[in-house]
Amino acid sequence: MRLSRYFLPILKENPREAEIISHRLMLRAGMIRQQGAGSFSWLPMGKKVLDKVCRIVREEQDRAGALEILMPTIQSADLWRESGRYEDYGKEMLRIKDRHERDMLFGPTNEEMVTEIFRSYIKSYKDLPLNLYHIQWKFRDEVRPRFGVMRSREFLMKDAYSFDLDFEGAKAAYNRMFVSYLRTFTRMGLKAIPMRADTGPIGGDLSHEFIILADTGESQVFCHRDYLDLEVPGEATDFTNDDEIAGIVRDWTTPYAATDEMHDEAAWGKIAEGDRLSARGIEVGHIFHFGDKYSKPMGAKVTGPDGKEHNVSMGSYGIGPTRLIAAIIEASHDENGIIWPESVAPFDVGIINMKAGDAECDRVCDDLYSKLTAAGRDVLYDDTDQRPGGKFATADLIGLPWQMIVGPRGVAAGEIEIKNRRTGERETLPIDAAAKRIG
Ligand code: ATP
Ligand code: MG
Ligand code: MG
Ligand code: MG
Repeated sequence: MRLSRYFLPILKENPREAEIISHRLMLRAGMIRQQGAGSFSWLPMGKKVLDKVCRIVREEQDRAGALEILMPTIQSADLWRESGRYEDYGKEMLRIKDRHERDMLFGPTNEEMVTEIFRSYIKSYKDLPLNLYHIQWKFRDEVRPRFGVMRSREFLMKDAYSFDLDFEGAKAAYNRMFVSYLRTFTRMGLKAIPMRADTGPIGGDLSHEFIILADTGESQVFCHRDYLDLEVPGEATDFTNDDEIAGIVRDWTTPYAATDEMHDEAAWGKIAEGDRLSARGIEVGHIFHFGDKYSKPMGAKVTGPDGKEHNVSMGSYGIGPTRLIAAIIEASHDENGIIWPESVAPFDVGIINMKAGDAECDRVCDDLYSKLTAAGRDVLYDDTDQRPGGKFATADLIGLPWQMIVGPRGVAAGEIEIKNRRTGERETLPIDAAAKRIG
């Protein structure tokens, strides 16, 4: 992509309304545009990052055996009356009437709708286990939308729903999502810690929030330092092997970790002072077993091997891709801007032409651009006539992992400079060697 043909509305000034760094940087880097309270448009570079985040989420859901579907954003109130949640949900739900005066709502979550799909088709335990997910916009009328896409009213969520014959099956499904989440967040360069979370009236210990430690987080969390060095399961993890998956969950739930609501002072007191981490955290994912909470009132039953009917045992599993992008920036930036992990960077590399219009510089840049593009790299080529200082600032602000700096003096010597955004290391290399290094 040539910057001269791109739409990258960089802001020079710090937007005053943005209280936290990720919000500030997303606005300054032209990723998002606020459209109203807690409502944002995703501009081209933001949309690219969002797509990359969703792709990782998808790959890891698929790997764990979940199947992608897509349900509507607008739902019928009648469905929610069946589960009893229409009245209970309160003011966070945006309620709408259609032209026939029917009560509708903008979905804050999809348990009811997915249960309706399930009960319409699945009648036998032989068709289980089943896990259906979608990545769809949600609306929650948050009391205090703030921090940009971190807590917005309209936001993207990946929500998965598992269906099993009994608790044992549901627990295996829960474990698969648990491990899938560990892999998902680590692929985005994040250290997410699964913490025991409130299960409400259901009870049991099958609810975990995945938390990124960050000073700007809205939750107070407590965990053992051991989590910082635990190994994340690799690509070869066998999701069809329940014992292997349960073993990973055991390792990742053994050290103490709890959110504020679940915090147990007595257990905390037994941990050596130096091993205690009490910090602020950002909830980026939440997994939850709730048994027959919806299947029972909504009549989602299957015939078991015993020939009898059983209410299916369910769980739900959420990740917020839009919030995740803010969390990634909170975790990875410096005073000059964003530092993208390679896996979610909007472009792999930026080419900076320090003297656009200079025949030799243009030729070298064009050549690099085609070579890298042909090698499958996603390149942003700054071919504008801005001064070099401004170009460097833009490149650092938008945080591409690599910069290739092409100037007249270097080109005369057959050399260009490459810079690693994360380490700040610069190296001058012959042009071909630089192309090979990045390509
Ligand atoms: P929070 O405690 O932050 O309000 P929640 O517990 O209400 O979140 P869940 O119902 O567990 O959220 O939804 C699953 C995921 O959706 C969350 O872990 C988070 O990543 C994301 N999410 C929830 N609310 C928002 C929001 N207002 N803006 C952006 N992402 C959100
Ligand atoms: Mg909430
Ligand atoms: Mg929460
Ligand atoms: Mg939650």
